[in-house]
Amino acid sequence: MEFLQPTTWAEALQMKSAHPEAMAIAGGTDVMVEINLDRHRPAAIIDLTRVAELTEWGMEAGLLRIGAGVTYARIIGELGGQLQGLAMASRTVGSPQIRNRGTVGGNLGSASPAGDAHPPLLASDAVVELASVGARRRLPVRDFFTGPKQNAMKKDELISAFLVEPAKGPQQFSKVGTRNAMVIAVCSFAIAIDPERRQIGTGIGSAAPTPVVAGDAASFLEGVLEEGGMWDTPRAADSKALQRFGELVAAAARPIDDVRGTAAYRRHALSVMARRTFGWAWDEYRTRASA
Ligand SMILES: Cc1cc2nc3c(=O)[nH]c(=O)nc-3n(C[C@H](O)[C@H](O)[C@H](O)COP(=O)(O)OP(=O)(O)OC[C@H]3O[C@@H](n4cnc5c(N)ncnc54)[C@H](O)[C@@H]3O)c2cc1C
Repeated sequence: MEFLQPTTWAEALQMKSAHPEAMAIAGGTDVMVEINLDRHRPAAIIDLTRVAELTEWGMEAGLLRIGAGVTYARIIGELGGQLQGLAMASRTVGSPQIRNRGTVGGNLGSASPAGDAHPPLLASDAVVELASVGARRRLPVRDFFTGPKQNAMKKDELISAFLVEPAKGPQQFSKVGTRNAMVIAVCSFAIAIDPERRQIGTGIGSAAPTPVVAGDAASFLEGVLEEGGMWDTPRAADSKALQRFGELVAAAARPIDDVRGTAAYRRHALSVMARRTFGWAWDEYRTRASA
């Protein structure tokens, strides 16, 4: 196996262009499992850990631009105040060791339907930045996932960063697993309230071939909040509306029966998580509004 170790981003892109079959490695928490279990043996590996550019983050035209190599531990520690939903999801990833090594870029690269970073990125309408020699393109995260463990990256591209707006309002993330830590989601749900645009963002994990949004559910809830004048005079949402919101979230999923859970259980759990996460986020909005 050829081992390539660029020290700059330009060098990394050149190596990817010269070796399109080469597999990138960041934290290695997915790649090394695949190699150790002999599921996949790439002809070449490009180690991105020495590329400083990938570990940087900053503001760009009102958006946070976060390098693909920023770990979960750093998302929690450095960006938890601005990206509450992603930080909540990051806290559920693996163990401290995995959170110290694993990156959001690697989660995107693996594109597992169960990747925990994906629902909050969908709920916040994040954008993935892809680069190749002499070119850069950005695409909405909702267009990035193309199938189970497949994404829109071309052979000569690498993920340079993702861009996301700092939270405009309360965000929540919830994950169902068979135990509390070190667990692949049976299903998960993220919600982001944007009081400025009067919008609700959603993201569903582990309940469809790719992570997906619950667009009809979000539109329904936006309608309820708008018609009830609830953005300006926030009060508790009525239980029938919450029930319907949960049903619409469950309907947006396309779950399967597998070793972790049945499709029916996943739909049920999603409807419960949808109601609860919205309830928590809306309570926070009401508290902030009355302060
Ligand atoms: C014990 C254990 C527990 C885990 N628990 C969870 C969990 O709770 N939730 C969860 O979501 N995941 C979990 N994972 C999976 C894994 O930790 C995450 O998917 C993590 O985000 C992968 O990041 P990484 O940096 O280690 O990626 P790597 O393993 O280095 O790479 C993963 C994939 O992304 C590609 N890639 C990486 N960086 C780039 C880049 N810049 N450009 C292009 N492609 C790139 C690689 O080629 C590879 O295909 C767990 C893994 C282990 C071993």
